[in-house]
Amino acid sequence: MGFFNFKNKKIQLEDDIDETMYLSVKEERRIAKENKKVFRDYTKLKRRKNVSEEEYLTQMRDSANVVEFDDLHTYFYTDVGTVKSVNGVSFDVPQGKIVGVVGESGCGKSVTSLSLMQLVQAPTGQIVSGSIRYQDATGKCYEITDMPTDAMLHIRGKDIAMIFQEPMTSLNPVFKIGNQMDEVVLLHVEDATSESAKARSIEMLNLVGIADVEKVYDSYPHELSGGMRQRVMIAMALSCDPRLIIADEPTTALDVTIQAQILELLREVKDRIHGSIMLITHDLGVIAEMADLVVVMYAGRIVEKGTVQEIFKNPKHPYTIGLMKSRPGSQNTGDRLYSIKGQVPNPINMPPYCYFYNRCDKAFAPCSQSYPDLMQFSKTHFANCHLYDPKYASDLKDEKMEKQNG
Ligand code: SF4
Repeated sequence: MGFFNFKNKKIQLEDDIDETMYLSVKEERRIAKENKKVFRDYTKLKRRKNVSEEEYLTQMRDSANVVEFDDLHTYFYTDVGTVKSVNGVSFDVPQGKIVGVVGESGCGKSVTSLSLMQLVQAPTGQIVSGSIRYQDATGKCYEITDMPTDAMLHIRGKDIAMIFQEPMTSLNPVFKIGNQMDEVVLLHVEDATSESAKARSIEMLNLVGIADVEKVYDSYPHELSGGMRQRVMIAMALSCDPRLIIADEPTTALDVTIQAQILELLREVKDRIHGSIMLITHDLGVIAEMADLVVVMYAGRIVEKGTVQEIFKNPKHPYTIGLMKSRPGSQNTGDRLYSIKGQVPNPINMPPYCYFYNRCDKAFAPCSQSYPDLMQFSKTHFANCHLYDPKYASDLKDEKMEKQNG
C-alpha cells in the first residue's frame, strides 16, 4: 500500500490504486517548467512569417502516393507528464485508394489524422519528430510538419478535407447550413462570389443525395436528422474537390441502415472525384467493406499493416487476431463474444517491451525484454511481433515444449 501528499497530508492509497499516477509537488513543478519551455519553442516555430516555399517543399518516396507518414511522433505535454499519442507511425496513402486505420479508442488514430491537418491541440499537443509528406495535383510535395500555419490554410479544407465523427458538434449550431457550406467555397476558390458559392453548395448537396436541397440549404443543423447532417458534412468536405478525404469514424453516431448508405456514398464519391480516403474507425466490418489497405494501431504504434485480404484472411499480430475474434458474428458458437482481456498500459509510462505484453495470450519470454522489430510477410504485409522473429524461434519452441509437458 502506498501514500501520496495532499495539502501536506500523507494520504494512504487504496490497494487497487496505481500509486505511480500520483506526483509530488516537486515533480509537478519540474513537469510544468519543462512544458513551458517546449510551448515557447513551439509557438516561435509556428508563428514564423515570410517563410519561403522552398523551406517546406520535399520529394515523395513514391510518386503514386498522396500522403506518406514517416516515423511520426505526436506528443501531448500534460500536467502529469508526456503522453506519446503517436509514437513512430509510418504508412502511405496511395492515390485513389481507401486506407483503413483501425484500433480501439485512444490508440492514436485520430491524432495521426489531426497531425496531417495540423489540427493537433496546441500548445499541449505537438508533432515532435518525423515526416508527413503531401503531394498536390500538380505533383508538388509539401512537408506538412515544416509548414507555417498560414501556408497550411491553403491546403486544409481544400486539398485535404475531413469528415468528423459527430456532425452535430462539427456543424456550427447558430449558422444555417448554406452559410457554412458557402464559407468553404468563398475561402478556397479564387474569384468565388456569393452566387457561385451557393450554386456549388447546392450542387454538392445534390451529389450526396439530399432531396429537398433548397430547404436543407436554408436550415439550421438541429432541424436535420443525424444522417442528413452527416451527408451535409460530406458535401462540405467535397466542395473543393479534395485529393484526400479523412473520414474520422464517419458512421459511429448513425444507425445501421444510415451507416450503410453513408459508406456507399463515400465509395461513390471517391470514384467520382478520383480521390483517396483515409478511413478511421474501430469497426472492422466497415474496414472489410470499404478499405483497400489496412493499418492496425495499438497504443500509439502500428502493430500490423497490409492489404484488406492479408489482414482479414491471414492476420499475424495477436492484437489483430483478438480484434477479429471480438467481431459480432465472427464465431457462431452461441458463446459469449470474445473480448481482449486487460487494459492498454499507462500512456505516460509505456514499457520498453511489447505494449501488448500484459494482454497477449501468446506472450513468451522475449516479449517482456524488448519491443518487437518489424517483420515482413509479403510486399505489403508487415507486423511487429516476436512470434515471427527468426532469432526467437528456439525460445518459442522451448516455451511450447514446456507448456506441453505441463
Ligand atoms: Fe504477444 Fe509477444 Fe507478439 Fe507482443 S511480441 S504481441 S507479447 S507474442
